[in-house]
Amino acid sequence: MSSPADKDRSSDIPRPSNFLRQIIESDLDKGTHATRTWGGAPGDAQHHSQGALDEARIRTRFPPEPNGYLHVGHAKSICVNFGLARDYGGVCHLRFDDTNPEKEDQEYVDGIIDAVHWLGFDWKGAQGEENLYWASNYFDFMYRAAEYLVQRGLAYVDEQSPEEMRANRGDFTRPGVNSPFRDRSPDENLARLRDMKAGKLPDGAAVLRAKIDMASPNINLRDPAIYRIKHAEHHNTGNDWCIYPMYTYAHPIEDALEHITHSICTLEFEDQRPFYDWLLDHLREGGLIAPPQPRQYEFARLNLTYVVTSKRKLKHLVDSGLLTGWDDPRMPTIVGLRRRGFTPASIRNFCERIGVTKDYSWIDYALLEACLREDLEASAHRAMVVLEPLKLELTNWAEVFGSDAHLEDCTLPALPHAQDGAPVPERRFTLGREVWIEREDFAEEPPKGYKRLFPGNRVRLKGGYVIECTGCEKDAQGQVTKVLATVLPGTKSGTPGADSVKVKAAITWVGVQDGLQAEVRLYDRLFTDPQPDSGGKDYLALMNPDSLKVTTAWVEPSLAAAQPDDKFQFERFGYFVADRKDHASDRPVFNRITGLKDSWGK
Ligand code: ATP
Ligand code: MG
Repeated sequence: MSSPADKDRSSDIPRPSNFLRQIIESDLDKGTHATRTWGGAPGDAQHHSQGALDEARIRTRFPPEPNGYLHVGHAKSICVNFGLARDYGGVCHLRFDDTNPEKEDQEYVDGIIDAVHWLGFDWKGAQGEENLYWASNYFDFMYRAAEYLVQRGLAYVDEQSPEEMRANRGDFTRPGVNSPFRDRSPDENLARLRDMKAGKLPDGAAVLRAKIDMASPNINLRDPAIYRIKHAEHHNTGNDWCIYPMYTYAHPIEDALEHITHSICTLEFEDQRPFYDWLLDHLREGGLIAPPQPRQYEFARLNLTYVVTSKRKLKHLVDSGLLTGWDDPRMPTIVGLRRRGFTPASIRNFCERIGVTKDYSWIDYALLEACLREDLEASAHRAMVVLEPLKLELTNWAEVFGSDAHLEDCTLPALPHAQDGAPVPERRFTLGREVWIEREDFAEEPPKGYKRLFPGNRVRLKGGYVIECTGCEKDAQGQVTKVLATVLPGTKSGTPGADSVKVKAAITWVGVQDGLQAEVRLYDRLFTDPQPDSGGKDYLALMNPDSLKVTTAWVEPSLAAAQPDDKFQFERFGYFVADRKDHASDRPVFNRITGLKDSWGK
């Protein structure tokens, strides 16, 4: 069988092989999933209509719980699951794991859908099937499966108190102790389960447990709870249920009912795999699901330096007002990265680079930034901006050009190279008697090796003329308020005389006459420590006090056309984006995505 892995390699970097690709390629070669010819689980009211499955297809799924916004770790899981489906001609389902009635919210559902689409993935099948699922759609089936387990003596209702249950579970050194309720008859258990379902028992009074082995060295097999009582309204099923399945029970069933072939999750679930298989083996024996079964595979989660990726901690940063929201450009959420200016391709390439392994490791945040630079280097329009403005006056302007009001038209390329054969676009701006320069580009007494403006020195105003500094003006406190210089006629960039005067530096500038004022938000790392929440560290104490500096800058007139989300390279300062929420043409706001090179800590 030819591997479809070479399809759709557009734009992104080559995809190296990894252990998941090897498993899938081997399954495709062996036809492991080819015997599926059923249209749904027998007796499953919500069975799917996809009918006989194309034997060459794999099915993966991304199963978020809609209890928060997705973060960069989820982006990895999305890229793995949707990426494998794309590469092997399969489909990836988006499944909301809404088994926990209380924590879920429509806002998060919408945010998750948006994030997956934005990253460039879709759950539609080849025939346009909407592979968007809800765990709660399977509640009926899950309950029937629970009754089946009870009838087969494979599950029992335990009425020990939660404390007793905890104590009797044992630990890594001690085996567990059997519950006094463990040997109830199937009939008694069935009646009790039905009482649970009918709402006759209060929250916490009983749980349904799988009957496996209280002495198992794998604690997950010590009769895990599969249903708990929760008198709570559910967003989808309303008040139909007062018992809800546990994730570890629900998840394998969801996978089986959706005909998932490769159920890919993070390593924390490795010890759950024996229960995953135990459950599906029994349900298959009972004819509730058909072979072959989905298989679970685990990979190492993404740990990224200088961020936290616990939903609880991210929610705290938002709820406490420490950050402005889930989409604060400092948040490692997908909405945050998006607003910061990261592109979908940069995130996908990052996920591809870090690869899929089973090894625990930390990935340097600088790699994510490098992927962004790589994506924008050729395509982001260049612009000049002055972040810490100081006025410079060309005192001989009228003498040289005949009038103080005279303006010289200047141009610079907007991109370093032509793209796709198109001519290199140009930016236009004007030079007049007064310009804004960067405060740090003038030194009354230059430090050793300083090549920029100081009295007697010549520099080029980039894209304009060579000028010679003649002095400065100061206020009563001795602070420089204006730099004075003269323009050297005949030295304009792009004219034959441009190189007649040699200079050691060209400085960036913006014309006072045509520059625009803009708010520039200089974002930096959110934490000062590369692993802010590892080893019991207090991440809140490790927040970077300088993670945001806001400046009022002058920017060149070409930026008047910037639309929200447009990305630029501000010469010498890095990559910036017009803020997608706050930018407006009459009130420009730009966010720094990242500097031109990695300078953190230097
Ligand atoms: P919690 O379950 O504690 O709310 P979670 O991060 O596990 O948080 P889910 O919505 O359950 O959130 O995650 C959806 C999927 O994303 C899961 O399959 C999970 O394994 C995966 N995932 C979560 N964090 C990471 C990470 N850092 N790296 C890779 N995959 C991750
Ligand atoms: Mg989870």
